[in-house]
Formats: sequence, C-alpha cells, structure tokens
Amino acid sequence: MKKGKLIVLSGPSGTGKTTLCRELVKRVPGLVFSISATTRDIRPGEINGRDYYFLAAAEFKKKIKDREFLEWAKVYDQFYGTLKKPITANLAKGISVLLDIDMQGALQVKAKFPQAILIFILPPSLEELRRRLIQRKRDSLAAIARRMKQIEEEMKYIPRYDQVIINKDLVKTVKYLQAIVKSRINAE
Ligand code: 5GP
Repeated sequence: MKKGKLIVLSGPSGTGKTTLCRELVKRVPGLVFSISATTRDIRPGEINGRDYYFLAAAEFKKKIKDREFLEWAKVYDQFYGTLKKPITANLAKGISVLLDIDMQGALQVKAKFPQAILIFILPPSLEELRRRLIQRKRDSLAAIARRMKQIEEEMKYIPRYDQVIINKDLVKTVKYLQAIVKSRINAE
C-alpha cells in the first residue's frame, strides 16, 4: 500500500491559509487536516478538537517533555505543536495529512520527513496584507506592525519551500493547490 504524504502550508496570517486548508480537505480524497495543539485562547467560532486542541501551558510543556510532538514552536508568544501520533497513524494507513504550521515548524518537519511537500502562501503584496489585517480587526495596530516585521524576516527562508503560491484570487488558488496536492499525493 502507498504511504500517505505530508503537505505543509505556511504563510503569514491574512493570506487565506485557513480557508485554503478547509477547501483542500473537502476536495482532495485521502487528505485530512492535522489538528495542532496550542496554548493560545480560543477565538469565537472555533471548536476545541476541530480547529485546535486548546491546552494550558503546563499541559503543552508536559507533552514537549514526553516527546509527543513531531514539531513545536513559539509563535507570537504562544506555543503551537503538531502531535506525532495522529500523523504517523494516518501515514501508515495511506492517508495524507495537511499541516497549517509556521515556518519554524515546517522546516522541522522537512528535516524529519524530507519527502514532505512545503508550500508557502503569499499575499499579492505586503501592502495588501497590511490592509487585510487591518480590515479583519483582530489585531491591534502594534500587533499588525509586529506581524509585518516577522513576515519580512521569514521571506529569507522562502527558498527552502518546494512551492510558492500567491493567493490573489481564492477560487483560482484553491483549484491550483488542489491540482498540485492531488498530483503529489498520487505520485510514488
Ligand atoms: P493562529 O493563531 O492564527 O491560528 O495561527 C498562528 C500561526 O501559528 C500560523 O502561522 C499557523 O500556521 C501557526 N501554527 C498553527 N499550528 C501550528 C503548529 O502545530 N506548529 C507550528 N509550528 N505552527 C503552527
């Protein structure tokens, strides 16, 4: 039986990554979403166990100590991590897994699974991204400035990704990503 593949999506928030992940798992048979653990607060509309496993910092740190994570990172002062068990169980069953994780996590995954496909999602421009973040009204202006600085820093590592996609038109990006992911999953 063919083993499952790991598909990693990274990119600044405000690029539509969450929507892209939702659409991809709906459209690509044999692909499931990796539910990360995090210590950040739950947001309105999110469900524990569907969007994330929301953990207290002490629980998260215990899992780090017990080596339960495939990768973990501190992103904007909160912990985020991918649990090893569901990943290995799915891959062994021939099911591919989609991860929405930051660049630090993506590079850790690539080091452990060199065959993982790393895809970076970019906004049409940094100015457009700043506009989207302001429009979303989720972050303060200071937090937005911090995110923008972080993105400029991350751009240096983009060449480590297998593919870079500019999300200008969500419908087109979904179609394009769907084609890439399907072909990668079905490749030997
Ligand atoms: P948010 O809090 O907006 O859901 O996510 C913030 C950032 O954390 C995003 O860039 C997202 O990709 C990243 N992230 C989510 N889950 C994980 C994870 O398990 N590991 C790592 N390294 N990053 C994650």
